[in-house]
Amino acid sequence: MNIAIRDRPLKLLWLEALKRRLSEEDPDFSYYHERLRRVDAGFAGERKVDREWLELVSPYTFFVMHNLILMNSAQHSHQLDTLFICTNFMLVIEIKNISGRLDFDDITHQCIRTKPDGTVEGFPNAITQTLRHLQFLKVISQNYSLPIEGAVIISNPSTIIAGHPKTIPIFHVSGLQKHLHSLFKKYSQAILSDKQLTQFVQQLLNRHQPSKTPAPLDPSRFRQGVLCPNCQYKSQMHYARGIWICSRCHYASEEIFAEALQDYRYLVRSTITNKQLREFFNIHSSDAANRILKKFQFPFTGSYKNRVYHLPENLVEYMRPFFRSS
Ligand SMILES: [Zn+2]
Repeated sequence: MNIAIRDRPLKLLWLEALKRRLSEEDPDFSYYHERLRRVDAGFAGERKVDREWLELVSPYTFFVMHNLILMNSAQHSHQLDTLFICTNFMLVIEIKNISGRLDFDDITHQCIRTKPDGTVEGFPNAITQTLRHLQFLKVISQNYSLPIEGAVIISNPSTIIAGHPKTIPIFHVSGLQKHLHSLFKKYSQAILSDKQLTQFVQQLLNRHQPSKTPAPLDPSRFRQGVLCPNCQYKSQMHYARGIWICSRCHYASEEIFAEALQDYRYLVRSTITNKQLREFFNIHSSDAANRILKKFQFPFTGSYKNRVYHLPENLVEYMRPFFRSS
């Protein structure tokens, strides 16, 4: 079995960075707060479903891919929450972590959630989304003629699945194993050899388009500097001899800089110069800024004076070994 590990989506990391820094007075504060809540819930739901794969006993060789983003010929993206693919068939899974009562309207193609207090809200219809993915996969897998199935999984066990069309099965996460076993029975004939399967999976992975960070906000809208986690990121920390100290509660940390620089990477840009470092993090001396940039051995381009440092992905992890205490 080959089961990929689901990474925290870039959108979630971006929203988390923004949450630490966006001022509560910002007109879009509650909008981003709500988006973070939804994306975070979505990710938690997906992780819950992911655990099921570890328990799967499959009679066929299989792969499980998460968050596969593929572009169709019109350059519109298909984001597949999970794609299960084995030698006999493939299964596209759309995962929803929505609480309350869900009604899927076949005519309006809307998904309506009713909360216990009676509040009604609209959500993108997972069934329509899945049908769209199935159409697309049919086109790109033509050479392999592998049967394609779809399913919508509700990851919140207390959600009530009310009205829904019969086009695509929709069930709770607890029903996944049973559903897979029914598909193993339905498609008992292998279409692909193990080698062809691996080849097809590789083709899909080659087509994968990593997601991009949302359009940057004007940096004047969020708090700059290294912010104190002890003060809910509301007060600034000052740099003194390699250590950051909170001006309000005097909490001191060396490593907190990694998180702050990661916020910078998500919210501002993925490169930094000596001047930009001083401005954003409120460091007075150019020499001190230089020492910081050198210490972490960031890759750079440009000559000494105009040097541009490139901040690696997974910055917090990248920077960890460079701290004194580690
Ligand atoms: Zn503090």
